[in-house]
Amino acid sequence: MTESDEHVSVTVRVPAKVNVQLAVGPARLDGFHDLANVFLAVGLYDEVTAAPAEKLRITCEGPDAGLVPLDRTNLAARAAEALAERYGRTPDVHLHITKDIPVAGGMAGGSADGAAALVACDALWGTGASRDVLLEICAELGSDVPFSLVGGAALGTGRGERLTALEVGGTFHWVFATAARGLSTPAVFREFDRLGEGVDIPAPVASRPVLDALAKGDAAALAVAVSNDLQPAALSLFPELADTLAAGRAAGALTGLVSGSGPTTAFLAADANAAAEIAAVLRASGTCASARVAEAPAAGAGAAGATAVA
Ligand code: ATP
Repeated sequence: MTESDEHVSVTVRVPAKVNVQLAVGPARLDGFHDLANVFLAVGLYDEVTAAPAEKLRITCEGPDAGLVPLDRTNLAARAAEALAERYGRTPDVHLHITKDIPVAGGMAGGSADGAAALVACDALWGTGASRDVLLEICAELGSDVPFSLVGGAALGTGRGERLTALEVGGTFHWVFATAARGLSTPAVFREFDRLGEGVDIPAPVASRPVLDALAKGDAAALAVAVSNDLQPAALSLFPELADTLAAGRAAGALTGLVSGSGPTTAFLAADANAAAEIAAVLRASGTCASARVAEAPAAGAGAAGATAVA
């Protein structure tokens, strides 16, 4: 797989994430916010395939492919360029993204593709970057990118990019309802700042009940403990999400919350059957574009196999 010749491509599978806690501190002088961000990787996946090419090229397939930029602003392209620059080579690679993670949905789909492209190019080019170097490049690409590389569950501090791995003691069953339009993460943070004007916002700290519920694999306890400080801002910009949250809770979800900056909403179910039932009710409710089930935790960006292409 690490052999770098023109007959080899490398495919890397990478999960989406949900934030089971997203505590947001006041805006810093640089405009970013300090976060206490408890990430959980969930089993909705993108795949990125890297193959040799004359120059950097991005293609994308999947239901949301039309929403994905195919130029150098794509995080997968930026990842390839960053790795190439670090090792003094040209980013002569074709990156094909098979997109299943909702775009602009608050599930870190772009970040996932960045992490996957990095792992795929490292294997294709045989650069042999250490885990620490990969994590460093991820952090340069964006706050959520390092977590896409490691997967599982982790506490992110700083802008969310300083990670501490967390123990997860069982499988959690989730339902994700996607919305008909996206929400811009910077716009949601601006709304957070606007809503918090004149309010004394405390420094963000990780919630002990959230960490304990994850460690025990206790869905009922996690449902009580989850929190998302961006939820009021997302609801302010996208009020219809309140109807989706109400529909999922009425369908038997243990809890419902906005995923990250939204507008995807996440529902925790007691078991796989309950998740399937909640997804069916949500699909029929007319309050969302689609509803998908997924289990957590999921592994981070990893090779899905090397394929001969010639
Ligand atoms: P996060 O949860 O990290 O805030 P998100 O899930 O809300 O992110 P993304 O799907 O990552 O949002 O997309 C946000 C924007 O990033 C898109 O509107 C798109 O313009 C841009 N983008 C760049 N690279 C990608 C990519 N590989 N896939 C999807 N969007 C990308």
